[in-house]
Amino acid sequence: MLPKPPPREAAPGFLFLPPYRIQGISIAGEQVTLQVPELDLGFDIGSCPRSALPSKHLAISHGHMDHIGALAYFCSQRRFQGMGTATLVCDKRIAPDIHALMEGVSRLERQRTPYEIIALEENERFEIKNNLYLQGFAVEHTAPSFAFTVIERRTKLLEELVGLPQEKLRELKARGQEITRELFIPLLTYIADTEPGAHLIRPEVLQSRIVICECTFFDAEHRSRARIGKHMHVEDIAEWLGVLEAQHLVLHHISRRTHMASARARLQELLSDEQMARVHLLMDHRANKARYEAQLAEAQRAQGTQD
Ligand SMILES: [Zn+2]
Ligand SMILES: [Zn+2]
Repeated sequence: MLPKPPPREAAPGFLFLPPYRIQGISIAGEQVTLQVPELDLGFDIGSCPRSALPSKHLAISHGHMDHIGALAYFCSQRRFQGMGTATLVCDKRIAPDIHALMEGVSRLERQRTPYEIIALEENERFEIKNNLYLQGFAVEHTAPSFAFTVIERRTKLLEELVGLPQEKLRELKARGQEITRELFIPLLTYIADTEPGAHLIRPEVLQSRIVICECTFFDAEHRSRARIGKHMHVEDIAEWLGVLEAQHLVLHHISRRTHMASARARLQELLSDEQMARVHLLMDHRANKARYEAQLAEAQRAQGTQD
């Protein structure tokens, strides 16, 4: 008998939820790293596949190794590849520990890897792109854990001024009168390790068009395990979906022991067809590939009718 070759590494999951690509690897306890390339934004860095490197901003949920294992490598490799200094966005409570980790690595390497930390208070916002903000808020886990919502700031004409001619509006503005109001639109929420609680029904979470959330346990008998580890169980997800407005809910952080087919079967048992159509499993490569191929075919058809 010949010895077997080493096991293949996990391939990144991929979903195109227009206008965003959601991609990355997320396996509970092993490695979690997601990217939204359109926003130059990454979430967590439990491992560092090449596709994780370009993220200009990296939001870190919490300090468990499956979420930060490749943090120092990410900062160093971005520098090495000429991609610039990494900007890490995190919960203020863990910022000193991240500094300490990076300090230890600098001492080991006898050289300093540059990085920047944006330490957020509860509900604080940080601008990542023009009019796009990352807002952090605490969730409940066995270590301090943050979730993040990407919020777009839009300005809208005051309702009572709608229909007025441009000159009139210019005149009002010149006189110093406020003619617009600000709107904050939640676009996407990323939730890593958490147990269910009031943080899941915050307005910006409920109103996000895309919600990415952990779901570690699917087995009906694993409810108590989920409680002890402060994780989400598929039954919590089913309950939550009743109030979630999201067009897409992406589940990640599924453990290696759970087969995608059985996870999907459990969801089917618990959810309506309408709900099922909104739910995606990040690491269900087969289903996601079929979905993407259907999107490609649709795009080609649309292109064909245009020609
Ligand atoms: Zn985890
Ligand atoms: Zn954790």
